[in-house]
Amino acid sequence: MPAPTTISVDGVTLTLTVERKRVRNINARLRGTQLFVSAPLHAAQRQLDTAIPDLARRLIRRVRAQEINAQDDALALVQEVAKRFPTPPQVEQVQFVTTQESRWGSYSAVTRTIRLNAVLRAMPDWVLKAVVAHELAHVFHLNHSSAFKQLLRRVYPDTDRADMFLSGVSWLVQQWEHLPPVERGLLTRAASYGEEMPASEDGDG
Ligand SMILES: [Zn+2]
Repeated sequence: MPAPTTISVDGVTLTLTVERKRVRNINARLRGTQLFVSAPLHAAQRQLDTAIPDLARRLIRRVRAQEINAQDDALALVQEVAKRFPTPPQVEQVQFVTTQESRWGSYSAVTRTIRLNAVLRAMPDWVLKAVVAHELAHVFHLNHSSAFKQLLRRVYPDTDRADMFLSGVSWLVQQWEHLPPVERGLLTRAASYGEEMPASEDGDG
């Protein structure tokens, strides 16, 4: 067995063991923080260097999705939103997913399943519920017409506030790489208007 090394993927450090075998493809297994990779005998190292982080990321995300879906009872939350509709859409399953990064959610009336971007679980419930309301409103209106927005605001009055919250999150993610270090540093401390603080002499704070 070759000596294990470590790799870091999405901030998770894994112990990596690569074994050359008579296999056709590069395969990976994750056990806790141990990543076992089997690679074809003649696969180039450069090929492994590219493939292994991708495989690791996929496995880490899959495990994380399982964790979130196991511990969560979001179904009650989602059904509570569904009930607000004049004709409540049927939801029997909630799946938090770690694979559809570019979408906040989707709903299938056929499988009665609502799929939500897993990062929503870490956000306030009212934001998560707003995404649920948005996806369920698409049962009645396919696009973002004024009728859609009217229904959505009636069913979930916080919808505009949640959209702004999510816009702020998206803005930060998109801008992060382009922000100068000082601004990034400032953003690592949560800023507020400071209205809860007594006014200081120079009005700073
Ligand atoms: Zn939409």
